[in-house]
Amino acid sequence: MKLLVFAAVGYAIYYFFFRKSVLDQPKKGNDEVTMVECSSCKTYIASDEAIVKAGKYYCSQACAES
Ligand SMILES: [Zn+2]
Repeated sequence: MKLLVFAAVGYAIYYFFFRKSVLDQPKKGNDEVTMVECSSCKTYIASDEAIVKAGKYYCSQACAES
């Protein structure tokens, strides 16, 4: 039983560090996010958050529909 607890704690520590290293990776990627200009209001937004419609980027659904 003690061995099981030790294994669980060891796994928790391993999981914590593994999870932390995984979470650190997207942060590095955020520095390289491409900024695109909204075709409607000319606001710059991250390309992964932009709405693409008819080959153009929009900052929001409202801009995309205008
Ligand atoms: Zn816009």
